Amino acid sequence: MIKAEAKKRIEKLTKEIDFHRYNYHVLDKETLAPAALDNLKAELFRLENEFPEFIFPSSPTQRVAGAVSGKFKKTIHSLPMISLFDAFSQNDILAWQERNENYLKKTLKPIYYCELKLDGLAINIKYEKGLFILAGTRGDGKVGENVSSNVKVIASVPLNLRRPEISELKALGLSEIEIKNFLELLEKGIIEVRGEAIMTKKVFVELNKRYQAEGKTLLANTRNAVAGSIRQLDSRISAERKLDFYAYDIIFSSGKDSDSKVLSRGELIKTRGAADKLASLLGFKSLKYNTLCQGLEDVFSFYKEIEKKREALAFEIDGVVVKFDDLKMWEILGVVGKAPRYMMAYKFSAEQATTRIKNIIWQVGRTGALTPTAVLEPVRVAGALISRSTLHNFDEIRRLDLMIGDTIVIERSGDVIPKVISVLKNLRSGEEKIIKAPKICPICEGKIDRVGEEVAYRCLNKNCYAVNLRKISHFISKGAVDMEGVGPKVIEQFLEIGLIKDAADLYTLKKEDLLSLERFAEKKADNVLKIIEIKKKIDLAHFIFALGIRHVGEETAEIISKLLISDLEMMEKGKGVFSIASLIKYFLSKNLDYFQQINGLGPIMGESIYNYFQDEHNLNLLKKFDDNGVEISLTAFLKKTKIENKNFKDKTFVLTGSLLSLTRETAKDKIKELGGKVSADVSVKTDYLLLGDDPGSKFEKAKKLGVKIITEEEFLKMI
Ligand SMILES: [Zn+2]
Repeated sequence: MIKAEAKKRIEKLTKEIDFHRYNYHVLDKETLAPAALDNLKAELFRLENEFPEFIFPSSPTQRVAGAVSGKFKKTIHSLPMISLFDAFSQNDILAWQERNENYLKKTLKPIYYCELKLDGLAINIKYEKGLFILAGTRGDGKVGENVSSNVKVIASVPLNLRRPEISELKALGLSEIEIKNFLELLEKGIIEVRGEAIMTKKVFVELNKRYQAEGKTLLANTRNAVAGSIRQLDSRISAERKLDFYAYDIIFSSGKDSDSKVLSRGELIKTRGAADKLASLLGFKSLKYNTLCQGLEDVFSFYKEIEKKREALAFEIDGVVVKFDDLKMWEILGVVGKAPRYMMAYKFSAEQATTRIKNIIWQVGRTGALTPTAVLEPVRVAGALISRSTLHNFDEIRRLDLMIGDTIVIERSGDVIPKVISVLKNLRSGEEKIIKAPKICPICEGKIDRVGEEVAYRCLNKNCYAVNLRKISHFISKGAVDMEGVGPKVIEQFLEIGLIKDAADLYTLKKEDLLSLERFAEKKADNVLKIIEIKKKIDLAHFIFALGIRHVGEETAEIISKLLISDLEMMEKGKGVFSIASLIKYFLSKNLDYFQQINGLGPIMGESIYNYFQDEHNLNLLKKFDDNGVEISLTAFLKKTKIENKNFKDKTFVLTGSLLSLTRETAKDKIKELGGKVSADVSVKTDYLLLGDDPGSKFEKAKKLGVKIITEEEFLKMI
């Protein structure tokens, strides 16, 4: 992005984020899903990183959530109530640990304390000499609103801190002197307990039922309901909302309010785990799920476990918070910018997200209906990387007032392909393009029509979809290009969401395209892409057969390629491959007579081949193969000019077990093609044993003889 463009985008993003933030935090009204708002913030953050000269003091990235409204008295926090950095993936968390290691210039093996990230309102409650004296919201982080009367009505907030038994404190691992110091502070000093005020799902449902019966406005969600109750001048309303409170931090100050001194972290209580237990000894509710994790592997499994339990929990959560358990580390790591280094919000994947529309493509469905699909800038939604979204029909585009280049909100539920929810029109730059309905069928180039009152455009060629599916399925079939692992079912999936229109498009597929599909896990996507990559070099006879030229079967294709080979050998000058462009050139240089007189072909086949290369549609397809990097391999014929690969040259391979992404026959051909030998039995002369699933006795023998054993994955890398 160029500077001027970036500046414009940054300004628009700032305005848009501020608009939704104000609605949410000040007016208690949700106008954009929090997860989608996070996407906008992330985009702004990225742009500001790239163009730091455009970071303005008023940028949403430069402040913490919330603004103080005028209706409450203000309260100044003893320590700022900071917001957290967000992580959405294991990679984000790994990067966080790495940043900390770089910051401290040493390897870390920390113990983390993981807590549920409750979705409510952050509150700071101050106790002096064990008595509730004040409760404040986060506000702008430094100054909050005094909401004491509304927090006092929360039944799970103690108005007097409970005095723990000495034995209980001992069990926390406190020494005698620490116990004495703590009890003294409880009697004379200030203890601040920070935590989240929440509403349970059950209360939320009950209240809404009642409100509906009474004809009152319904609560939008539990978080809104909490904010609305706490930031409410009438505490009777707060009381009927039956809120709950869970603590997540304790701050100790010695001395009286006027000249109190905040103790540093770890000074009185050493670990976050102990502090959490202490909160419950002081009379607060505690979350039984919070747990110690030895390293990040533990953190990742905790996250997964909680994500599974999420639905069944009594309250809403939006992730887990990963904290250094050792509170001394909190002091050492400190705060950077607006958030601490020592903890991280590890959020669940968003179910709504924002991204931009790069293009619209039309695909023909089984019934001939033309469906528009939006090609998106890849974005993570509910755990999956998404690059496509179906738009159903042209009316949908008009209803949403969608343009190419627009920033949109998409939503994904379960494994369903995501849908476009809305367009953020304020973010338009003026460069967006109007989306037009197609005039001809994008597949067969035939006529299309809009039948009667129907919303869909249709290709009038009844066989359009079926013929196309058959063509592509033929291309990948055995005897043709032979893409094992990519069957007609997979091709149908590709066609359905418009990933491909023809066989040449297979070579443009990217991993994120495949991950948007049903039943496509990471491993399957990798395998499919690997096999397509291998099949970028196609043997001449196989390629000619794969084109599906009328009357041209496997044998005919073989005859033609043998005939062409001497000519082509000269053209490719010993490289073993030649381009499809030269293949086209070759065919175009011959006249009808030439093909009809080829021995073994006859006039009908000859004419069919000649005509194929005269057709513009076909030539375009061939050119597309060329553009997408497909080449013709001559290795099957040119034994003298094998492609030499030092991994294979004069090396002897033995195969055992079954392979995942290719047959043993293909693997053997490949080894020979690259200059290697294949032997049936393991001996001292064997260089490599290629190990598949369920291997036979050769595996044991190879181990005994010390033969190098390679996996399928290693083998594919060698290729
Ligand atoms: Zn068509």
